[in-house]
Amino acid sequence: MSRAARALARPWVAYPAIAIAVATLYLAGPLNSGPVFNVLGASSAVAVAVGARRHRPRGRAAWYLIALGQVLFVTGDVLAYNYPRLFGHELPFPSIADPFYLAIYPCLMVGLLALLRLRHPLRDRATLIDALVVAIGFGTLSWTYLMAPYAHDSTLTVLTKLTSLAYPVMDLLLLAVAARLVMGGGRRGLSSQLLAAALVALLATDSIYGWALLHGGYETGGLLDGGWILFYVLAGMAALHPSMRLLSERAPEPDARLTRRRLALFAATSLVAPGLQLVRAVLDQPREPVISVAAGVLFLLVLARMSGLVRAQEAHTENELRQRFEARLAALVRHATDVVSILETDGRLTYVSPSAGRLLGRSPEALSGRQWLDFVHPDDAAHVRGFLARLDHGDSGSAEFRLGHADGTWRDVETLATNLVGDGTVDGVVLNTRDVSERKALERRLAHQAFHDALTNLPNRALFRDRVEQALARRRRHGTRLAVVFLDLDDFKTVNDSLGHAAGDAVLQEVASRLRECIRGSDSAARLGGDEFALLLDGIEGELEAITVAERVIEALVPPVVLDGRECLTTPSVGIAFDADGSEDAEELLRNADLAMYLAKDQGKGSYAVFEPAMHTAAVGRLELKADLKRAVQNDGVSLVYQPIVDLERGEIIAVEALARWVHDERGPVSPAEFIPLAEQTGLIVPLGRALLREACRQAAAFQATCPREPALAISVNLSARQLQSPELADEVRMALEDTQIAPSSLVLELTESAMMEDVELAIRRLNELRDLGVSLAIDDFGSGYSSLNYVRRFPIDILKIDRSFIQGVAGSVAETQALTAAIIDLAGILGLRPVAEGIENAAQLTRLRELGCPLGQGFHLYTPLSATRITALLRDQAQRAPSAAAAA
Ligand code: C2E
Ligand code: CA
Ligand code: CA
Repeated sequence: MSRAARALARPWVAYPAIAIAVATLYLAGPLNSGPVFNVLGASSAVAVAVGARRHRPRGRAAWYLIALGQVLFVTGDVLAYNYPRLFGHELPFPSIADPFYLAIYPCLMVGLLALLRLRHPLRDRATLIDALVVAIGFGTLSWTYLMAPYAHDSTLTVLTKLTSLAYPVMDLLLLAVAARLVMGGGRRGLSSQLLAAALVALLATDSIYGWALLHGGYETGGLLDGGWILFYVLAGMAALHPSMRLLSERAPEPDARLTRRRLALFAATSLVAPGLQLVRAVLDQPREPVISVAAGVLFLLVLARMSGLVRAQEAHTENELRQRFEARLAALVRHATDVVSILETDGRLTYVSPSAGRLLGRSPEALSGRQWLDFVHPDDAAHVRGFLARLDHGDSGSAEFRLGHADGTWRDVETLATNLVGDGTVDGVVLNTRDVSERKALERRLAHQAFHDALTNLPNRALFRDRVEQALARRRRHGTRLAVVFLDLDDFKTVNDSLGHAAGDAVLQEVASRLRECIRGSDSAARLGGDEFALLLDGIEGELEAITVAERVIEALVPPVVLDGRECLTTPSVGIAFDADGSEDAEELLRNADLAMYLAKDQGKGSYAVFEPAMHTAAVGRLELKADLKRAVQNDGVSLVYQPIVDLERGEIIAVEALARWVHDERGPVSPAEFIPLAEQTGLIVPLGRALLREACRQAAAFQATCPREPALAISVNLSARQLQSPELADEVRMALEDTQIAPSSLVLELTESAMMEDVELAIRRLNELRDLGVSLAIDDFGSGYSSLNYVRRFPIDILKIDRSFIQGVAGSVAETQALTAAIIDLAGILGLRPVAEGIENAAQLTRLRELGCPLGQGFHLYTPLSATRITALLRDQAQRAPSAAAAA
């Protein structure tokens, strides 16, 4: 099939092809007859009806109405052509044909309006005005040249006038409808253009016909019929073309703005009336008031249209601004570091901003539609749920929790939530989520610092106490037993003093790391301060387990720490305390372990002791005793007794040692071996020592006055380590000598070797200060400590008091002890020191010491410590027995 043939197969092509062929024959002459013209008219009505049936558009009835209008029109034509034959005379005006002719207009108009209504269901004021402007513009022309002549013609009957006017009026109304159809927006297609063309053809032909009638130039079957045939063909084509369905399709909201084409039409038609007036004025034609009215109406319509345009423009601008603002807002949300998300009431995420990629490593698509709580750390879920539940409508609040990153880690976040459920645009909870990992890390670091020791990174006392408290709570609930182990390093002070603090720190760090290795996972180690450490053993089976740990700890600390090639001993003294029934608090347990540790220290280095309630009683007793001692010192409750020191060769008392005595109100006499260390711990020894020194010197002066002898009776006074450290010691001694007027050579100051060994350099300095005063110095309890004679040589010492332990064995069966004592006596002689044998308890010892050549001795076998009165009596006795010696002086 050729292209032309294929085209002709389509009704909308075939129909006009045939119709135009027939019309050409009609107009050219061969087929020029009324019936042919009528058939052409009828064919159009058939085409319209067929098109409506075929294409089944919305509002098919409208098309049938149009077809009916054409049928009526053709009927009018048939009547007009056959009028002479039917009625026997020429066609009058008006006639029976005119109502049929006129009927096409309402049919066309109603049909078209119905289609328009389907097309534009909303009322469109702007297009209506535009259509009116066009109609009035043409109406003015039509009135001037087609209607006014009839209206002003007084020879015509009313019916003739009305009928004549009816045609142009109908044409104008149809024109308004056609304009409305052409100017409304939306897809239209060929069909509507054909329809518009059909209407233009009809209107133009009608107008020319009307004008021709007025000027007497119309002939039936003439060229003008071509106009009507065109109308028929175009209308038929419009209905047959498939795009006819589009006519009654709903069109989008018409754009109220003026297009260039519409503006041109608008301007042209609105200029018709004023233009006409100008033309008439130039041609000197009579004034036509209708034109002025039309010009006024046009002016008002243009105004109304303009105001609408301005409003539309404003609305348009506002709309555009809002769209731009929303776009900017969206961009802001997209690029913000905070993740903005919206939560539905069912907990699902409906919107997530792209920054989720940065925070959680997940795309917004991966999160949208998912349950938010699925991403919250399980431990935080309850907290988050509660937080959201408390958020009332319109409320905001923030919470901190952890969210899961796609890489499997947890991120600390802070979320600001605003409840906008029920709020039109959002309708959900808006979440502003921010990464606070860095801040959290800092907080954790600060918290760690607050609860850990900076040097060893072990928990500090506060954290340890807390852990013990928790363990005690578990003990009360589940009965799991626990122990607190208290450790104090022996001789740590020596390490610090002799090697410096850096070395001390290194030792502490080493101890900490060894401790960590000794404990199980459930235990904890802590540094309580200084050289004190503690262990919490949680969930132990029994006491034996804790003791095993204590032994392991001691063993672990036995190997010395090596610093710069020097070995530092770090043995600990360990105290262990168990919970009794869980009713005690952490502080109590720590104190108990501490007490046990003190007991362990007394037992010797590197040992442990388990706390017993008796220790507590003892500790409390010691505490009371301290208070009582303080009172005694203030009230001169501590007195002195004197033990004679005898020249072993001649049996004479050459000196006395002052020994402190305290009789407690309730407990009776308290041994200096007990209260002197107490006085040392509390610092009471300083005032007590000062008072006793003065008292001893005063008493020595009294002894010397009542029993003068040559050399004068000497007095020995004991000094403690603490007194030796005091810078005022030399001054105090000097003042005591001056005040009591005894010769410095009469005073002997006794110091134990351990007191001198605490700080050797300081001791040497102090001793030299004292020696400069002229007093004698004695080393007490020699041989009981570790010091060698080598050391002793460095001290400016005059007298060596040999410890009782050597004297006890001097007459015994152990040859070594005998030899050792003999060696000490010999050595003292070599070093220029006078030896004094302490604690001579029997005659055998005395005899042996005499044999060994020990010049001086002291002991219960000779004299026990005695009161000043007894000493005075003894001294008087001695002077009487040996007056020669006294007289010789
Ligand atoms: P010390 O300086 O070695 O004093 C001698 C101690 O031995 C005295 O004990 C004395 O009573 C005791 N004693 C004497 N002869 C014998 C004996 O034959 N056998 C036995 N078993 N013991 C004997 P005391 O008075 O109990 O004093 C004990 C320690 O207390 C003294 O030992 C001394 O270190 C200290 N002390 C006493 N008074 C003072 C004082 O006023 N100042 C200071 N700093 N310490 C003092
Ligand atoms: Ca002594
Ligand atoms: Ca002694």
